[in-house]
Amino acid sequence: MGGFGRYRAGRVAFWGLVLASTSAAGVDFRFAGLSAGGWALWWVSFPAVAQIPKESIEQVLSSTDIVGLISSYIQVKRAGSSFKANCPFHHEKTPSFFINPARQSFHCFGCGKGGDAIAFVREYENLPFTDAVRKLAQQAGIQVREEEADPEADRSRRSRGRLLDLHREAAAFFHERLMKDPAAEHARAYIKSRGFGREMAVNWSVGWMPENARVFLDWAKSRKFTGRELVDSGICYLREEGNPASGIRVRFRDRLMFAIRNEIGDVIAFSGRQLREDPNSGKYVNSPETVIFRKSRVLFALDRAKKPILREKSALLCEGQLDVISCHEGGIDHAIAPLGTAFTRDHARLLRRYTTSVLICYDADRAGLAASERVFRELAPEGLAVRVVRMPAGEDPDTYLKKYGVEAFRGLLAEAAEFFDFKLGKAREDGLLDQAAGRAAALTDCAGMLALMSDFAARENQINIVAGYLQASSTVLRQAIAKIMAKSKPARGYQEPAATNDEVIAPVEPTPLHRIVAFLCQLALTSAPAQHLLGEQFETIHEATRWVEGVPLLEAILAAAPDPASSAAVNAFLSGLPEADRIALSAEVTTGGATDDGMQAAEVSLAQLSGLVLQRRDAAIKSALKEPGLSAERMIALLEEAKEIAALLAGIDQRSEFDDELPKSTFKPKVPEWKKRFGDKDGTRVRS
Ligand SMILES: [Zn+2]
Repeated sequence: MGGFGRYRAGRVAFWGLVLASTSAAGVDFRFAGLSAGGWALWWVSFPAVAQIPKESIEQVLSSTDIVGLISSYIQVKRAGSSFKANCPFHHEKTPSFFINPARQSFHCFGCGKGGDAIAFVREYENLPFTDAVRKLAQQAGIQVREEEADPEADRSRRSRGRLLDLHREAAAFFHERLMKDPAAEHARAYIKSRGFGREMAVNWSVGWMPENARVFLDWAKSRKFTGRELVDSGICYLREEGNPASGIRVRFRDRLMFAIRNEIGDVIAFSGRQLREDPNSGKYVNSPETVIFRKSRVLFALDRAKKPILREKSALLCEGQLDVISCHEGGIDHAIAPLGTAFTRDHARLLRRYTTSVLICYDADRAGLAASERVFRELAPEGLAVRVVRMPAGEDPDTYLKKYGVEAFRGLLAEAAEFFDFKLGKAREDGLLDQAAGRAAALTDCAGMLALMSDFAARENQINIVAGYLQASSTVLRQAIAKIMAKSKPARGYQEPAATNDEVIAPVEPTPLHRIVAFLCQLALTSAPAQHLLGEQFETIHEATRWVEGVPLLEAILAAAPDPASSAAVNAFLSGLPEADRIALSAEVTTGGATDDGMQAAEVSLAQLSGLVLQRRDAAIKSALKEPGLSAERMIALLEEAKEIAALLAGIDQRSEFDDELPKSTFKPKVPEWKKRFGDKDGTRVRS
């Protein structure tokens, strides 16, 4: 289908040609047209969303407030008529993530992500479109009418949905057993012996898995869960791996069952605590990894600690689930814990969405210190500030709270030490800093850890603390850090989150930058007037994204706008970039000579950039014209566009002879209103 005519998108009218084609993957619109701002050729793809009718999507969007929605996930600040935040989708210190309440949309100038409430939920929770709509509908209390579905997506959603159902129902089943089963007396006694009452068991949906596996298996059968689903959930396993005929076994037997929930509160796994001594089995047994449970990406109690973490502006990291439960029950509700002992980079990234500060509350012994150091090594590269709670020897939050009460514990939290204060204070107590040799060893050790910190200003603070303890000058320490950073450059610092943990990290290639873009980046980082001018030309630059390599990086610089006069500001900005971007830019920043007149250079280069976009669009049209089987309508549109571009190109050629008089406005094609609203990348919204 398609046709030539006058089209409207929002308040903007176009003359042009629209071609729409439907495929299994969705609907693909191609549009070539003339608007007030100039010729343009756009492709907009809508993924298959036939399952949910347009009216339901509109209803969901109109009953969701995007500011409220996003601020339930991350910390959001008012900025005039809009709101800003540190982008949850890329690493940054200065907010370039904006929410527009009037348009109910968000956009990140750093990574380019943007869209409406549905797009946010999709991106943030990594959900398919339909699931994101369903989730928002549920929150708004709307019944979504669903039409016929894409079978493949539906199957995968169903199996995920079945696992979530199984976990939710099993948690309720275990809980009921714990509360009512006469055979669970010892489990209830154990809870009581830990100083908890019934409310705790209710609050945390704690349950009991009977000793007799039959009880659970019969229940599952009565609830119509299949053996395959029980095995997929990890609650059960096959007696012989890969052999369904060998029979099913239940992983947890006579254990206290703690429900493990994801960030949004779905039960996704269980942690079972032993109730009777059994040397053949661990004190805690956790569910294995499944399609809904990735241990390295789940923090216990994060679902309920999210808001308190925003309020407290820090997260309290404990070692075990019982510590976390004790904290929450005592009103210290920003407590969380990894599952098992390993704290990963993924955990650090998860926390970074909510806070920039973490309080570690581990055991006071040597093992506790070593564990705190490992946590520091994951948090520091993500730019999180780390403090350590000084726990008295032999206490953990659970025992401490029971002995001394919540007010005393709050006192401990308030007096938490900076990480290096804690580490070196301990070393000094142990006499490790008495001799010069001990101080030298500590200096090397600390320099290695300081080098991990991606937050430049925070590192400077810590350098002063460390230098004080080691009776060294901060210059010596800085030199040691610089040496380590130079040596370990490729492995150090921020890396784009990998798709999976097991993925082999390939050597980082610099982000490709067109030489004009590279020069503009250099100007933006070295000349304040140039940065200012380029910032005003954001739309011209954004237009070039599709056509010229490296534009998003230039946009990231302009969005963060580090002060070119301050090398600290520029370096802090660079250190926060993904490795590939930093490598690409470091060449520009270090090799580029000083420009006498940054402003003029920026104007000239910007005109060149516009020219390059036109040339590349021109080439694209010419190759499109050579496609076989071109319809007459499309050919007309392409020819019209080619003509228009030729005229614009001629204009650029003339202008370049008069660089000095170049008026800014001549190379500022406006982004059409509808395109701003819908975005280039996120074509998921279907609205008339
Ligand atoms: Zn971003």
